[in-house]
Amino acid sequence: MNKVPFVTKEQLDKITEQYPTPFHLYDEKGIRENARKMKQAFSWNPGFREYFAVKATPNPTILKILQEEGCGTDCSSLTELMMSDMCGFHGDDIMFSSNDTPAEEFVKARELDAIINLDDITHIDFLKEAAGIPKKICCRFNPGGKFSIANTIMDNPGDAKYGMTKPQIIEAYQRLKELGVEEFGMHAFLASNTVTNDYYPTLAKILFETAVEIQEKTGVKLSFINLSGGVGIPYTPDKEPNDILVIGEGVHRVYDEVLVPAGMGDVKIFTELGRFMLAPYGHLVTKVIHEKHTYKEYIGVDACACNLMRPAMYGAYHHITVMGKETAPADHMYDVTGSLCENNDKFAIDRELPEIAIGDTLVIHDTGAHGFSMGYNYNGKLRSAEILLKEDGSTQMIRRAETPDDYFATLRGYGL
Ligand SMILES: *Cc1c(COP(=O)(O)O)cnc(C)c1O
Repeated sequence: MNKVPFVTKEQLDKITEQYPTPFHLYDEKGIRENARKMKQAFSWNPGFREYFAVKATPNPTILKILQEEGCGTDCSSLTELMMSDMCGFHGDDIMFSSNDTPAEEFVKARELDAIINLDDITHIDFLKEAAGIPKKICCRFNPGGKFSIANTIMDNPGDAKYGMTKPQIIEAYQRLKELGVEEFGMHAFLASNTVTNDYYPTLAKILFETAVEIQEKTGVKLSFINLSGGVGIPYTPDKEPNDILVIGEGVHRVYDEVLVPAGMGDVKIFTELGRFMLAPYGHLVTKVIHEKHTYKEYIGVDACACNLMRPAMYGAYHHITVMGKETAPADHMYDVTGSLCENNDKFAIDRELPEIAIGDTLVIHDTGAHGFSMGYNYNGKLRSAEILLKEDGSTQMIRRAETPDDYFATLRGYGL
């Protein structure tokens, strides 16, 4: 299997004539089709809603596309709440799934009437003090231990800073009921970037059984369960992508097994996906500016880790297509590097690729989520533009590139 860019060489040549590289390019058609499939997968649940994790791709044009497809937003900071507000998300359109939350962020969330998802039992009093307790609230659960699917450990919730233990969450619901809360939800995020159709169904079973237990012990009947993020994508070309229709059916089966017999057949299912909604529909487009032959063969491009941090930060694999050389044999071995004074600024290490020449355009795949958004300004490097490839084939700049003026803005009057 190979990864095929969502643009042809001819299309991309025209786009790079218009916009200087590097930039992130997003595929509106792919985003919309995937969002519709997501909705279809959970159409068996009348209250279903996807709350897109804003941190994955915090761009108003992207948020509005997802809004048109029926999504809400999942925020965890002040500016994410503000951006949601500016894009017309209000009240139940916003899930506020934060942790270590500053008081001013709870105040903003209450002002927007967002659904607050409490990360800790101590946050009940903190929220009460800061902004008051709303009528509807969600609590984040962490069952601890290891999270396994069929004896394979997927992640380690016991080591994660998020969520409440079972005794804490039971006490939290009791406390919140006493404080006048009328509608309750539960949330958990137990494994990240899972490439298996079993993650959501396995997670759902744990949460559904816990919901039944909560009802028995406290009399609190949950009205929604938020399966959060974690449904991933295959970054390497050898893996099968998740099938969201199979995943939706898997959750449906567990719902009928556990919740329906307990008289909880009206619980709404929410999700908070970021990566699955956007990652495959973004490319980082960059041009080759140098080649270097020393102890290894290097290809130097005009993008750097400031535009895409995942390879440097996690050693993450991102597939690379050399435009126009899709069918050429991958008979060269390269490190593809950016220009940071940081040896981990490499988009690929020992990667087998076709022979590359200066001036070639490279597409770095799967950068639509946790790509631009993790960008930073190390070495004084500037963040790139974001371009939308629209359904009709035209393009629109949806964020301009930073300029040196942006970089110096916080220093003007402070030494400059
Ligand atoms: C990051 C995050 C998500 C989205 O995660 P993905 O891996 O992008 O699906 C959802 N909810 C919360 C609370 C998160 O922190």
